[in-house]
Amino acid sequence: MSEKLMDDIVSLAKRRGFIFPSSEIYGGLGSVYDYGPLGVALKNNIRRAWWTAIVQQRDDIVGLDSAILMNSKVWEASGHLKGFTDPLVDCKSCKRRFRADHLLEASAMTMPGMKEKPIEISHIRCPECGGELTDIRQFNLMFKTHMGPVEDESSVAYLRPETAQGIFVNFSNIVQTSRKKIPFGIAQAGKSFRNEITPGNFIFRTREFEQMEMEFFVKPGTDDEWFEYWKNFMMDWFTGLGVRREKLRFYEHPKEKLSHYSKRTVDLEYEFPWGWGELWGCANRTDFDLKQHAQHSGQDLSYRDETTGEKYVPYVIEPALGLDRALLTFLLDAYEVIEGGRTTTTESNKEQETVLRFHPSIAPVTVAILPLNKKEPLMKIAQEIRGVLNKRWAVAYDDTGSIGRRYRRQDEIGTPYCITVDFDSINDHAVTIRVRDTMKQERVAIDQVAGFIAGKV
Ligand code: ATP
Repeated sequence: MSEKLMDDIVSLAKRRGFIFPSSEIYGGLGSVYDYGPLGVALKNNIRRAWWTAIVQQRDDIVGLDSAILMNSKVWEASGHLKGFTDPLVDCKSCKRRFRADHLLEASAMTMPGMKEKPIEISHIRCPECGGELTDIRQFNLMFKTHMGPVEDESSVAYLRPETAQGIFVNFSNIVQTSRKKIPFGIAQAGKSFRNEITPGNFIFRTREFEQMEMEFFVKPGTDDEWFEYWKNFMMDWFTGLGVRREKLRFYEHPKEKLSHYSKRTVDLEYEFPWGWGELWGCANRTDFDLKQHAQHSGQDLSYRDETTGEKYVPYVIEPALGLDRALLTFLLDAYEVIEGGRTTTTESNKEQETVLRFHPSIAPVTVAILPLNKKEPLMKIAQEIRGVLNKRWAVAYDDTGSIGRRYRRQDEIGTPYCITVDFDSINDHAVTIRVRDTMKQERVAIDQVAGFIAGKV
């Protein structure tokens, strides 16, 4: 069942132009994907919803867009050069590669301190062919490249594996220019790259992905309280955008498994078809990053409270969300198949119907305009409505096929509202608005349509 659900989602995503395999005409590139017309619209809407809630609607958070390429010293200071590794094993027979921690987790073993010291794995066999596995070796996940024409050690650069470090190294710039006082946050959304050993589950784990991270700087001692606040924020954000509460849960990382910089980490998890998986991680990164960068750069990265004169290095609470994972979550959670169909017209009866119940504010198309025929005067009225609505929302225009089929085409891509322009519209200057989730139809005066949509989105 769960495999079928994933197959269905992957196929719908391809068929309707949400997500395509990258470089597909050349046979693709493993676990790399391109977002098509509907996918990019959905992605932009999710990013915008996050930005609106995190930056636009708050006084205490500002935005940033830092470069993907950074001075290599950043990664030395942050610990990524030494410690951003996953434990890798190869199968000696079939040559497949696995993450040792995933194999041990699957065999219900924990591996405390696994990153620091070698661990015995000889009792585990290859899950694919039963062959013998190699010893564990640590594999650094950062993509390496060279800046400039000479490929030597001095020109090495890395594609960032997280957006957070761009925020830490700009801390002083932002304190000085934005006049924000602690507690305050810096948010950014952008691409990150990790040379994952086992990417997979569609866009859940890929090597190129987008993160939406926010570093919230607080006075030490107030960090536990702020941690609770941001943890709850994560849950509220997803449920506010319609994700079912029962498909979400918190996972508290046990102390012995915390990253070197973390005092506490809680993941918001979603129940994916293959099981619970991390969606949004909330970490108390303490003063680790700022102190490391202060030490390695020789710059003073402490904060001075202007009212009390107190000087300290702030603690940081980080809610870090993957945009692609969020998109997959919204796709899965919105997906519904109705056997036999919802409509009762003879034509559509007994057909299988697919509905994506996206929240109106993230749906890739907000309104579809469906004139009953392609001719004047209906076309003129429909085009005029389009011209008004597309200044504010994504509008689709569809004038082919029966109305029932057109509704179902829109249901399948999650369009919350369809506007039908019919022959009565010529005289009563009104249209029928059909609501995706209830299938209720309402007659609305043409000059009230924008107000109607605005009230819902
Ligand atoms: P995982 O345990 O799944 O590898 P992580 O704990 O390493 O994830 P973080 O470093 O906390 O992840 O990154 C923050 C968020 O970025 C994750 O919650 C996830 O949504 C997203 N993310 C991380 N790695 C990937 C990836 N390879 N592909 C897609 N999204 C990712």
